[in-house]
Amino acid sequence: MHKDIATPIRTQEILKKYGFSFKKSLGQNFLIDPNILRNIVGHADLTKDSAAIEVGPGIGALTEHLAREAGKVMSFEIDQRLLPVLEDTLSPYDNVKIVHSDVLKADVKGLIDSELAGFKDIMVVANLPYYVTTPILMKLLTENLPLRGFVVMMQKEVADRISAKPGTKAYGSLSIAVQYYCTAEVAMIVPKTVFMPQPNVDSAVLKLIRHEEPPVTVIDEEFFFSVTRAAFAQRRKTLLNNLQSQLPNGKAKKEEILRALEQADVEPSRRGETLSIAEFGALADALHPYFN
Ligand code: SAM
Repeated sequence: MHKDIATPIRTQEILKKYGFSFKKSLGQNFLIDPNILRNIVGHADLTKDSAAIEVGPGIGALTEHLAREAGKVMSFEIDQRLLPVLEDTLSPYDNVKIVHSDVLKADVKGLIDSELAGFKDIMVVANLPYYVTTPILMKLLTENLPLRGFVVMMQKEVADRISAKPGTKAYGSLSIAVQYYCTAEVAMIVPKTVFMPQPNVDSAVLKLIRHEEPPVTVIDEEFFFSVTRAAFAQRRKTLLNNLQSQLPNGKAKKEEILRALEQADVEPSRRGETLSIAEFGALADALHPYFN
């Protein structure tokens, strides 16, 4: 086994060798604790029959742990300066494919087909760049990719919102957007001290496992998500108020909205944060004929 990249000393050595300076704008906070990395990878339950997709390998701290456990790793890195570093640090591993690309612009589906052909078990495992956590997750969730799930480090506050249950303060349209596709749980809370440089915010590792069947079946997914966003537009307002002010021509359609609420068995005076995904599904379907 090779010496870990993610020790403070080795990381310093690598940064110095390449004269690398961190770019805050790219969310570059590298992990420098091999135990944390082992724990993260442990949560992904990988075998040599699994493939891992990583976003942002940095200098390869997590990538090498993934390469040891998985059959193949495909890792997207936007920062060109890291390419020669990764070529060097990951040279002991022949099962890593680095893709130099902004993951948000990449044809992930096409790359899975070409690079991870034959792998039936694919997990996204990453220490995400925090400035684009939500767009990255939403892209990978909605592009119909053959993924088992995600084990991803992010800002703790975002992990809490994504995994929140109805009736809590953190529960909102982001919780529903993700929990529509996956079960969500915070797997680990991670102290700032394991990063270089240390971020300003607390971090957590979120584990998402794709549902075999969605928790609700709706007539129109896009409309379902727009109803959930409308319901949380102003958190202090009642559902009726938010739907009236957010849905197209909602003010003039109070009667229709009330009828749909009744049909879905949801009290108009409730707040969005109290509704389960199933209740939102019933409500969106009841509203659908009046707004489409
Ligand atoms: N995996 C490394 C680690 O844990 O030490 C680095 C994680 S660091 C939080 C985030 C990484 O994502 C950086 O290497 C950064 O350059 C890269 N990155 C930022 N935005 C990206 C994007 N849109 N697409 C691909 N990589 C990106």
